[in-house]
Amino acid sequence: MTEFELINRYFNRPAPSAVLGVGDDCALLAPSPGMQVAVSTDMLLEGRHFLPGTDARRLGHKSLAVNLSDLAAMGAAARWAFLAIALPAADEQWMAAFAEGLYALAGEHGVDLAGGDTTRGPLCIAITVLGEVPPGKALRRAGAGVGDDVWVSGMPGEAALGLAHLRGEVKLDAAAAAHCVARLEAPQPRLELGVRLRGLASGAIDISDGLLGDLGHVLKASGVGAQLQLALMPRSDALRAAPEALVERFQLAGGDDYELLFTAAPAHRAEIAALATGLGLPLTRIGAIVPGPPRARVLRADGREVDPGRGGFDHFASA
Ligand code: ADP
Ligand code: MG
Repeated sequence: MTEFELINRYFNRPAPSAVLGVGDDCALLAPSPGMQVAVSTDMLLEGRHFLPGTDARRLGHKSLAVNLSDLAAMGAAARWAFLAIALPAADEQWMAAFAEGLYALAGEHGVDLAGGDTTRGPLCIAITVLGEVPPGKALRRAGAGVGDDVWVSGMPGEAALGLAHLRGEVKLDAAAAAHCVARLEAPQPRLELGVRLRGLASGAIDISDGLLGDLGHVLKASGVGAQLQLALMPRSDALRAAPEALVERFQLAGGDDYELLFTAAPAHRAEIAALATGLGLPLTRIGAIVPGPPRARVLRADGREVDPGRGGFDHFASA
């Protein structure tokens, strides 16, 4: 199969929201009047961002999901995606499954694949996403203020637990394993949450590299510190069943969750709780923004501070 046949067969579904989609030298897009365009690119390399042999359908999903997650973290509504892909071989079954996973997630969020590039090489997937946000409404990392609450969506730590299971480092029961591996391989970008947080959140980021590390970016950009309560961190059944020391580490420093971490004034607590109910997505208040250097202190129930040096998650965060 030639490159053009391949593109035509797998990546040329209609893109009704584009003026012109796949097939010309460029796509043509018409952003909604008055909106700002939010753009982000993320690359996934086999062996670095996903395990060799990862299910192709899930990889198609995840490649788009991690990009849409960045739009979610900005409070942008997703519109278009571009896919640059290097493939070692034209494996038709693999391509069909990959495209299925990608288009299924795109369809869920009204995103159109409007172009890309296809080449032969070691498996590598780079997706660019474009979204829209009203001027002044984007959720920036800079914006967290002293006294704001720190919130997190979902159950951070589950993706790392899924990875540990795949690596044979923990043994989960079948239901927990399926759940956590799905969190790892098929994360759900929190796009609706992001849009609904416009005007509520003062700062936001998506958790791709671990909660503390990503919170650190918000603190640095905002010039503030944070104090978190370990006991407030949300725990699913799967997390509750896993060894305590691992769970702490995964919650604070495990990557790949693609949940949103955001800050908001205490005046918005009721509205955020209602939002959680409305979305059917846990939103948990885990601490507060405090004055001081851009560092997060994590306190145990007895008031002792989790020591990132000896707690064991620092090397994990930098792995
Ligand atoms: P060019 O030579 O101008 O770069 P290409 O032959 O690379 O054009 O691509 C032809 C058309 O197919 C373009 O519209 C491009 O955006 C699209 N395309 C190529 N690869 C992909 C892909 N993996 N997914 C979506 N569209 C693609
Ligand atoms: Mg090209």
